[in-house]
Amino acid sequence: MYSGSCACGAASYELHAPLRPSVACHCAQCRKISGHYWSATAVPRAALKLVSERALKWYRSSPHVRRGFCGICRSTLLWDNEERDSISIGSGTLDDAGGLTTSHHIFVAEKGTYYDIPKGMPRYPGSGPEDGKGGPP
Ligand SMILES: [Zn+2]
Ligand SMILES: [Zn+2]
Repeated sequence: MYSGSCACGAASYELHAPLRPSVACHCAQCRKISGHYWSATAVPRAALKLVSERALKWYRSSPHVRRGFCGICRSTLLWDNEERDSISIGSGTLDDAGGLTTSHHIFVAEKGTYYDIPKGMPRYPGSGPEDGKGGPP
């Protein structure tokens, strides 16, 4: 079991499943929302348990996607594509990420110009290898 929360603790969750490797998304939307690029793990939707959701708010960032954030401290916690069976969780919001690693970088065609992606790390100009539908992690 993994746990995590926003910066102020008003929104918190548990994950009751093994974590998918983290995927780093460099799309303009993730960069604007997070202030940098956004990296997220994922679990089956049923494995996410919201422990405290009194401050959780949702922002619809694409037709089928909403992003969950804390209405108090504004941490972005969740990326929820309603067409998928899984839900993405910002890896930086985990209390202890355990052995979680990053598998690849996506939307690098939109990446910021002020940083580099580590050499040898798999990268994709768009949505990545396993996803034909487009959209972030
Ligand atoms: Zn908060
Ligand atoms: Zn993105």
